[in-house]
Amino acid sequence: MDYVRIIKKIPRIHCARGPKICDKCKQASKEKSYSLIKVYIEPSNIARPITEVYVGCRKIVGEFEVQKRFKTLEEAKKYAIEHGIEIDFSIE
Ligand SMILES: [Zn+2]
Repeated sequence: MDYVRIIKKIPRIHCARGPKICDKCKQASKEKSYSLIKVYIEPSNIARPITEVYVGCRKIVGEFEVQKRFKTLEEAKKYAIEHGIEIDFSIE
């Protein structure tokens, strides 16, 4: 399956139901951190949260999975350089 890996600042996620339905998600969404995410280009049958990322000038909307969280932007930048991964700064 096609996917892109990108670093983006995203809220913490509790489950796929999201902050509108789930109280624990609402609490978790207040905390944001730079994270390495895997965004799937094609939809799947698994319920995953959805995000919007810009890869170069291409906008991708897809399901994603968090693979790694970074404590600081510096840590995220270091990882991005070492692994050749883009950082999406479009949404704060
Ligand atoms: Zn939840």
